[in-house]
Amino acid sequence: MNGLDTPPTLPTMRLSVLGSNGSFATPGRPASGYLVDHAGTTLWVDAGPGTFAALQGIVDYRTVDAVVITHGHADHSVDLFGYYHAIKYGPGVRAPVPVFCSPGFEEAFTSFLGGPGHEPAGTLEFIASGEGDEMAVGSVAMRFAMTDHSVPTLGVRFEADRRTLFYSSDTGPEGTWMNLAEHADVFLCEATYQGSPDRKPWGRHLTAGEAGRIARDQMVDRLMITHIWPFLDPGRSVVEAEATFGRPVGLAAPGMVVKV
Ligand SMILES: [Zn+2]
Ligand SMILES: [Zn+2]
Repeated sequence: MNGLDTPPTLPTMRLSVLGSNGSFATPGRPASGYLVDHAGTTLWVDAGPGTFAALQGIVDYRTVDAVVITHGHADHSVDLFGYYHAIKYGPGVRAPVPVFCSPGFEEAFTSFLGGPGHEPAGTLEFIASGEGDEMAVGSVAMRFAMTDHSVPTLGVRFEADRRTLFYSSDTGPEGTWMNLAEHADVFLCEATYQGSPDRKPWGRHLTAGEAGRIARDQMVDRLMITHIWPFLDPGRSVVEAEATFGRPVGLAAPGMVVKV
């Protein structure tokens, strides 16, 4: 080492894609779910169908420090039911596990669990979060914004060692949620549809072109699109996002690991 001290290297925040399908899972392609980890802190962000199995292929599920459920739509939340049983009855678990969630999700989840004998208390600890709320888990700080969706939905900015990741969850183009993406090192943005925004089947999602425009306006460093409708060719979504972003765009895919 020539007698010189090695400069300390900062731990890296990483984003691992468990699933990136919009609306429903297809073979080998779970719906929305991600791991965010940094310096031994591990967060599971969205629990779409297929993501709990994918998570167990990467980490011991008992090491997850907290869960974030951005909203109650099934393609972002249903695997929390399997996780609940694994935490409640599995060996060697630390419980309760914090679950940061949108307002009203705890009540909906508890209703679906099925009554006496299946209460979340002691297994999952729900922390309803909203616009501007700031939370921290281990070394990762989180800040929430309410997005433009049909149910209360959280966009989440993750920050560690001055590196930032913003996840749009599901959203349309209205509101101020996108301000939390400003200057993000990585912007993980939904891009459900393609083509003209005027022809969207539903206004509370984005086209790939809208995702690229928002990313450009917020001066993000890297854009990665996700939540592509399974009926569409994702390669075309990338082309449309690059046309408005003005630079190369990444495509979230299961198994991908990105250093933030
Ligand atoms: Zn969705
Ligand atoms: Zn949704």
